[in-house]
Amino acid sequence: MTAPPCKDEPTETGSKSLVPDAALAGSGTGSGTRRRTSTGVRTVTMASVVYAAMVLLFTLISLYTAPQASQSGTFRPFPTIPLHVLILVSLGLGLGLTASAVRRRLDLGLAILVPALVVLTDLDHLPSYFGLAQPIRPAHSFIFILCTVALMATVIRKRDVELATLSAFFAHLSVDTGVFPPFSPVSFQYYDLGEFRTSFVVAAVAFALAAGLATNQNRHRGVS
Ligand SMILES: [Zn+2]
Repeated sequence: MTAPPCKDEPTETGSKSLVPDAALAGSGTGSGTRRRTSTGVRTVTMASVVYAAMVLLFTLISLYTAPQASQSGTFRPFPTIPLHVLILVSLGLGLGLTASAVRRRLDLGLAILVPALVVLTDLDHLPSYFGLAQPIRPAHSFIFILCTVALMATVIRKRDVELATLSAFFAHLSVDTGVFPPFSPVSFQYYDLGEFRTSFVVAAVAFALAAGLATNQNRHRGVS
């Protein structure tokens, strides 16, 4: 693929917030061309759009590929939604800040991106919201996350964003209870993954730490 990597906003020295800077570029650490930047608005937006689009794509595919017997997905009772979202956002925020802690500087982009992706995973409940029959959690799937990260690696090309995405996905799985179709949309065999929740938490933290350690080095020189 020759698609250009996602470029953040201009990298003026002294920029703040979501605008990346190259403050650590070539800071005498012997890293050569390696640069560590904050995650910019464009990257956060693109990653969120790609993730949400993939959730919706998997959801749409599942409506056609899931056997009738597995179309038993439901929408969460409305009164429980605010607390559930709060838990998801809090966990995601904690993981995003974990990545920042590793970097020893606030990366507001990752601090926003991780909770956003944690919440966006539940877009796959939309059909039941509109009263349509659907399978349970069609995007809570290992095939989904593999495809999504592969797409991000092609389009966005930022290792820390890919790792943050994995962190968000496993964080979400650690909060949900009940059954999942881990091989959706190939198979809608449901599994109770409750016994793996601790593993999912560990994976989420590990990927957040890795995201913090990863540089925003693009895979092409000369681009930010
Ligand atoms: Zn969920």
